Amino acid sequence: MSRFSLEGKKALVTGANTGIGQAIAIALGAAGAHVVCAGRRSCAETVAQIASAEELLLDFADPMAARDLFSGAGYDILVNNAGIIRRAESVDFSEEDWDAVMDVNAKALFFTCQAFARAALAEGRGAKIVNIASLLSYQGGIRVPSYTASKHAVQGITKILANEWAAKGINVNAIAPGYIETNNTEALRNDPERSKAILDRIPAGRWGAPQDIADTAVFLAAPASDYVHGETIAVDGGWLAR
Ligand code: NAP
Repeated sequence: MSRFSLEGKKALVTGANTGIGQAIAIALGAAGAHVVCAGRRSCAETVAQIASAEELLLDFADPMAARDLFSGAGYDILVNNAGIIRRAESVDFSEEDWDAVMDVNAKALFFTCQAFARAALAEGRGAKIVNIASLLSYQGGIRVPSYTASKHAVQGITKILANEWAAKGINVNAIAPGYIETNNTEALRNDPERSKAILDRIPAGRWGAPQDIADTAVFLAAPASDYVHGETIAVDGGWLAR
């Protein structure tokens, strides 16, 4: 069997109703996985595009929402994709915007990893975790302080979990998407000045597509990446190389 095949694997993707999460769910399905498409809204549109899939309502308004999902459920792959962003000058930034972003992007991500790994370790199974980080895991950004803090946290969490679980057969890695055309970047793309400045700086000369991220997620979910641990792979059209 191909080292890139996910035949016989069961995957959970958070935020699978749209954008990057939707593309990842479809790509994991195309590689042979049974995909549980989780979202705070219906993922029916995603499920309809996958041979073997189901939807699951999962809202990280409670960051511990995934605590009972994995025990005895036979999951092999977890993709922590759900994330939000809030924009305001740091001098004006509210506690509400800080907590909302940290809760979904960092706290829910960590405790979902924990619940997933507890089940895999109890059952003695190898498993794969793919966290969605950001260019703002490396850079500071502007007017997005809680997002930057949370995405730096994602990279750090990915490293510590890899250190603790690599020898136990769980791969923990992350993908740092560049500027991808989704709801998350609609405000930027609608601002002609910011949009041009971003595009001019991307060596590949185009915004990324959700599919660009999905292909890397298949690699990190498959046996092909068995010796990759604690890594954050930038899929950014060369942005960080600049
Ligand atoms: P998106 O279209 O806004 O998707 C975000 C997903 O997260 C949606 O499914 C959203 O659900 C879900 N989500 C948000 N809050 C949630 C909650 N409380 N409970 C459950 N699900 C929740 O944006 P995207 O670009 O595809 O983002 C996906 C991931 O990539 C995020 O972690 C984001 O930070 C990261 N990322 C994106 C870019 C980019 O350029 N687009 C760059 C770097 C990193 P709803 O549809 O219900 O809101």
